[in-house]
Amino acid sequence: MTEFPVEGVVDAHVHLMPGRLMAAIREALGDAAGWEFDHPTDRERMEATLAAAGVERYVALPYVARPGAAADLNEWVIEAAAASDRAVPFATVHAADDDPGTVVADAFDAGARGLKLQLPVQGFSADDPRLDPAYEVVAARDAPVVLHAGTAPMFEDSPHVGVERFESFLASYPDVRVCAAHMGAYEVDAFVDLARDNDNVFLDTTFAMSSVAETYMDFDPATVDDDTLIELSESVMYGSDYPNIPYPYAREREHLLSRDLPIEAQRDVFSRTARRFLGGD
Ligand SMILES: [Zn+2]
Repeated sequence: MTEFPVEGVVDAHVHLMPGRLMAAIREALGDAAGWEFDHPTDRERMEATLAAAGVERYVALPYVARPGAAADLNEWVIEAAAASDRAVPFATVHAADDDPGTVVADAFDAGARGLKLQLPVQGFSADDPRLDPAYEVVAARDAPVVLHAGTAPMFEDSPHVGVERFESFLASYPDVRVCAAHMGAYEVDAFVDLARDNDNVFLDTTFAMSSVAETYMDFDPATVDDDTLIELSESVMYGSDYPNIPYPYAREREHLLSRDLPIEAQRDVFSRTARRFLGGD
């Protein structure tokens, strides 16, 4: 912790959810990818690991596969975050919820700071018109959105992901700050171009830029070169997917730390970009 080059680290991609839901998610990931998870899922023990790694704030991301469950989950996450001095709670919604706009508005009223959608798991795309009422709320509150919008690690056959769906969302909501998780993998070049061309497009490094990305998702983080990270340091933010990673937390950032990045770029990636994404903090 003392050796970490940046103060006030933000982990922009953490999952904080009730134990039963986390167990179901892990079982699905285990079945699909053969991964095993050793990290704790209760908030106190998770935060002990994050604190030991110098993480001052983390974005707590929920998602639900079924309609009708988002409101209760949002309430749980917001309550858990209220008892924490590190968690920044996000809300989720399902396109097939009765009233997606109200689900999101209620969550924001209760303290949620942004919206998270796990599109391939939830089974709809970012530009699904049923989500418009939810996005209207997001836009009105100047809140950010995190989207699992890419095809990695096992969604290349999903009709709900990919750069075209993301661009369609972007065309409708150019003023909303939106993060493509996992660097947009496996279409990293296309998502990097979008981030280069749009101040409101962010990328998180989660999983894709880990030192074990080749092993676990068949992606070589070195294909995103130093110049790109430096040029886009105000658009790229560090995230981990903790605690749902089948490897130690340190793997998530040791590759980034091994890069020849100037300290200002490191401060952006590990702290300042996430704070801008969140809307000042
Ligand atoms: Zn995640």
